Amino acid sequence: MKIALHWKILIGMLLGVVFGIIAVSSGMNTEFVTNWIKPIGTIFIKLLKLIAIPLIIASLIKGISDLKDISKFSLIGGRTIGIYILTTLIAVSIGLVVVNIVDPGEKIPQETLEMLSSNFSGDASKKIDAAHNQKEKGPLTFIVDMVPDNIFGAAGNNRNMLQVIFFVILFGISLLLIEPKKAEPVRAFFDGLNDVVLKMVDLIMLIAPYAVFALLAALIVETKSPELLYALLWYGFAVVIGLLLMICFYLMVIKFYVKKSPLWFLKQISPAQLLAFSTSSSAATLPVTMERVEEHLGVEKEVSSFVLPVGATINMDGTSLYQAVAAIFITQALSFQLGFSDQLTIILTATLASIGSAAVPGAGMVMLVIVLEALNVPQETLTVGLALIFAIDRPLDMCRTVINVTGDATVAMVVGKSVDKIKEPNPKNWDDHLDEVR
Ligand code: ASP
Repeated sequence: MKIALHWKILIGMLLGVVFGIIAVSSGMNTEFVTNWIKPIGTIFIKLLKLIAIPLIIASLIKGISDLKDISKFSLIGGRTIGIYILTTLIAVSIGLVVVNIVDPGEKIPQETLEMLSSNFSGDASKKIDAAHNQKEKGPLTFIVDMVPDNIFGAAGNNRNMLQVIFFVILFGISLLLIEPKKAEPVRAFFDGLNDVVLKMVDLIMLIAPYAVFALLAALIVETKSPELLYALLWYGFAVVIGLLLMICFYLMVIKFYVKKSPLWFLKQISPAQLLAFSTSSSAATLPVTMERVEEHLGVEKEVSSFVLPVGATINMDGTSLYQAVAAIFITQALSFQLGFSDQLTIILTATLASIGSAAVPGAGMVMLVIVLEALNVPQETLTVGLALIFAIDRPLDMCRTVINVTGDATVAMVVGKSVDKIKEPNPKNWDDHLDEVR
């Protein structure tokens, strides 16, 4: 019997959780899981990261050269950035409304606060240092950093994804501007390269169900003090409710603007969502997001090859929503009064902070420091505040990454629809790939 990939991944996740719980409750040696099971997950994430830069290069060059003229490129580019900023603002606003209604900060008892802060303040101060490294730069550093001075240097570090995108866009535009006869072989080369890279993604995905088993089992076994998580349930609840509302918003956009079935959309995109959940990294999920959006949702490459890599780096609706909830929660819990103008500051800084967050696990929490500092939260309060939410950050990171990825896919559909670039999907079954490989 052939089981669809998303079911396999889901089964892998569930079995991973069950295995993790059994391992913890039976007192199994955690080193066994760390040494023998976790590596499968680590290898999988490394493979996905390995493929990210070649995929962006091949697919973006092919995407731009398929556009045939520059004006279409600037149309798609402008629209994409505009919609990304808009969805982020909506996400922050939803977060603010939910956290003001749920009021999670009022529900934490004083002794829990003390216990949490003494347990986690060491980890929290590391995050503050990391944020300061980011902040010491000037206001235009973001743009300066986007321009690479060496393409191999840029491609040598996945964190420089925007630099690579910058180079590739310049390359793609120049390719459109040269004589078609000379451009043709270059275009054909990248066309072929693109197919090769996509095939590599297919092959890597064959181990996805086993890898998510390993990732989740290791995560559960390595969680230090699960009891602490219960203290933060209301806060976690507020974040999750906000994220669910954001999904509803995307589904409404899919239904009313793109005019496709929301359930169909969710089903097609689900493998990318499950991977986002298991890896907590939208960068690592990018190859799968691209594959799903192109082959299963039918967005043409001209659109998806630009919208998705850019989105993975700058569009993080889940992260910005979480930052708004966390900022209010921390200030409430630590009795730091906020006025209306502070809520506006949160909208602005959380939007910027989510744009600046790297697409890797835990990045959203580092950038949260910038939101809190913009609110003038004193340094000691800040450390205690971060310590407070640290215990529950990883599960929330997993959830917000799902929203980040879903947001990118939704915007790809919206931009695709607006320029009439959505075709009938042509999904290849993963099991066919498996048969081919065999
Ligand atoms: N893990 C998130 C992502 O990769 C970023 C974050 O919110 O920490 O999309």
